[in-house]
Amino acid sequence: MDLFAHLKAYDYGEIHFKYDKATGLKAIVAVHDSRLGPALGGCRFLSYERDEDAVVDALRLARGMTYKAALAGLAHGGGKSVLIRPKTHFDRAALFRAFGKFVEDLRGHYITAEDSGTGLEDMEIIRSVTKNVTGVDPSSGGSGDPSPFTALGVRRGIEACVRQKLGRESLDGVHVAVQGVGHVGYHLCKELHAAGAKLSVADIDPLKAERAEREFGASVVSLEDIFDIECDVIAPCALGSALNDQTIPKLKAKVVAGAANNQLAEPRHGDDLHARGILYAPDYAINAGGLVNVAQEVLGYDAQKARERTMKIYDTIYEIAERSAKTLTPTYRIADLIVEEKLAAAGPAPSRPK
Ligand code: NAD
Repeated sequence: MDLFAHLKAYDYGEIHFKYDKATGLKAIVAVHDSRLGPALGGCRFLSYERDEDAVVDALRLARGMTYKAALAGLAHGGGKSVLIRPKTHFDRAALFRAFGKFVEDLRGHYITAEDSGTGLEDMEIIRSVTKNVTGVDPSSGGSGDPSPFTALGVRRGIEACVRQKLGRESLDGVHVAVQGVGHVGYHLCKELHAAGAKLSVADIDPLKAERAEREFGASVVSLEDIFDIECDVIAPCALGSALNDQTIPKLKAKVVAGAANNQLAEPRHGDDLHARGILYAPDYAINAGGLVNVAQEVLGYDAQKARERTMKIYDTIYEIAERSAKTLTPTYRIADLIVEEKLAAAGPAPSRPK
């Protein structure tokens, strides 16, 4: 693998490796940028066919975290850790303890959290050897389930889009179609229903869709039709790549604003939405509420402060929409531009803590 070519391509940064013979730990910590503060980002524990794939995953995801944290106004840079799941029997507690020691050795330069393949119990084990971990049990000062905060941020982002694009000051009577009513989608429907919005939902799990129908009076539509219906806003809250060559031509909504990560199948789909006059709220800008909540844990958890900060996602989305309209530039590019401005203004990264 041409490691430094990858680092250059992703505009790095630094990368740390640890192999612990005793536990079989193979860990990669990518610190993309720390100009705004210590790198914060989750820990993945997954199987990889090749070590190289794990490295690229870490590099790509940590870069995304830099952008997300900066846009959310957090004093954090972007980081990510990837632990390659051993192919043979292993002692999970010992492995995560060894990882915690690795994080501790980075002396606060990287702060870890849950991600795919890791959970609360793993974070508790890491916490036994380092304080540089978030997402621990609420009984130990942790921030708990991020989904309600993510949903709150998405609701605020939808409010900003509806004002900027549709000239409406409230969500009362606004028709929102939600694709995926899992953790975030459910809480989003709750927020939107409380604000007087009319809801349509689709989910591959009929029980989840029925719950939204029962609790929030949502109309249940088929998976195929959700992007096709007459509505004001479409909120993708299921998987990535929801906005693609098949779905975009069907859209009747003038706003796309949802929680899912990587909504644009390719960047050109952001250009396509812009060309069609559809306001797209960049995913990493609108879905940052969960990260804001976790970042609050680093400072000493305070749910009220996390909520107040999440509410500000409204201002970020409004600014992006305004700049996009004024400069005739797609919103996903404006979001990146704002981050690049913030990073340039931050100056060099501070020295590593001793
Ligand atoms: P989840 O798994 O709880 O919910 C996803 C829902 O989508 C499920 O109910 C699933 O049945 C449904 N679904 C899957 N494929 C579908 C399809 N083709 N059509 C309709 N429904 C479909 O996940 P979540 O935690 O609610 O996250 C949703 C999205 O938001 C993901 O992309 C996630 O990466 C992103 N996100 C989540 C958070 C968070 O705080 N949980 C934060 C930031 C971003």
